[in-house]
Amino acid sequence: MDNKIQNNIPISLEIFKSAVDQASDHIIITNSNGIIVYANKSVGKTTGYTSEEIIGNTPKLWGQQMDILFYHTLWNTISNKKKHYYGQLINKRKNGEIYDAEIHISPILDTNGNIIFYIGIEQDITKQKAVDKMKSEFISLAAHQLRTPLTAIKWQLELALENSKEVISESQKIRLMKIADSNERMISLVDALLTVSHLETGSIVITPIKMQINPIIEQCIEECKNKYHNRHHDIQYVIDSLIPEVPLDKILFEQIVQNFLTNAIKYSLPNTHIDIHVVLENNDQIKIIIKDNGFGIPEKQKELIFSRFFRADNSKLIETDGTGLGLYLSKKIVEAYGGTIGFESIENKGSTFWFTVPVTGMKPKEGDKGIA
Ligand code: ADP
Repeated sequence: MDNKIQNNIPISLEIFKSAVDQASDHIIITNSNGIIVYANKSVGKTTGYTSEEIIGNTPKLWGQQMDILFYHTLWNTISNKKKHYYGQLINKRKNGEIYDAEIHISPILDTNGNIIFYIGIEQDITKQKAVDKMKSEFISLAAHQLRTPLTAIKWQLELALENSKEVISESQKIRLMKIADSNERMISLVDALLTVSHLETGSIVITPIKMQINPIIEQCIEECKNKYHNRHHDIQYVIDSLIPEVPLDKILFEQIVQNFLTNAIKYSLPNTHIDIHVVLENNDQIKIIIKDNGFGIPEKQKELIFSRFFRADNSKLIETDGTGLGLYLSKKIVEAYGGTIGFESIENKGSTFWFTVPVTGMKPKEGDKGIA
């Protein structure tokens, strides 16, 4: 009996090791200082380095493309917070070729909570990224082609409504206005698709200019109040007096505030309260918080909230109009400029959506496209 157990232990360890050795994902184990002590076969295949070159080195061997901010966030998460880190980055093979990678790094702790080693799993996602890029370019092309006739329909409808005011009946006028309304919705959808493709292909430009946040939010509130005047929401707005001027891309900032505020109005009953707070957090982040007392998000659908085309079961029954692209776009914008985004929600009680901008401002980005 004893023998059997003793015999089984080395065999199962061997099987386990050969499974890790042969795994298609690249797996490394480093000591607590980040020095590689184990690398499976895939590491050599992806990076092009030999195991002699890899063991005793650090993952910077192929990860030297990482920018300093990314590196600090990663290291802070795994070594100070002792948490799992997930991210996508660009690495470099030994032959100089650049590749896209998805990484998962976990610290492994002893019983006292001290880090004994790190385990890192990496996947080469270059092909997947190339397919995604092709899809986004296709969406961009299709949306561009649709935009022109839709704009022509818009002008023609406006002209028809203006010129035939005296000769058409009230019911014909209402019908023309309904067509104009549907056309307007199609234009918004096409514009959202264009912006999605610009963000996904990385061609969006971010041009931060130092400015005050207060007037932008006031303007967004005013616009929403005018657009949804028949819903009579009571919008309360408070901004921390300590909020400094901050480098912002006004159009991108407005897009997020308008998305959150419009949602707070659309997904709550008329005459309810909406609170907007702008606060300084930890002295280095400006947090914009929009709280409603609306329908909330069902618990089991919360993890999907920032996904493309997502609409929650409860609210889409009440508010049939929506693209499910606003939050997806907001998250992409926030990630592109270096902020954070999140929400809390209880179904039938309400939701609080928030996003942050570093006090140092939005990270500028070169590109050739703006928001559609
Ligand atoms: P849209 O509003 O056009 O559908 P969004 O991406 O802005 O697209 O929102 C996605 C979905 O998330 C909405 O359809 C709705 O189901 C849910 N949602 C967003 N904001 C709220 C909110 N404040 N309260 C309740 N549900 C919300």
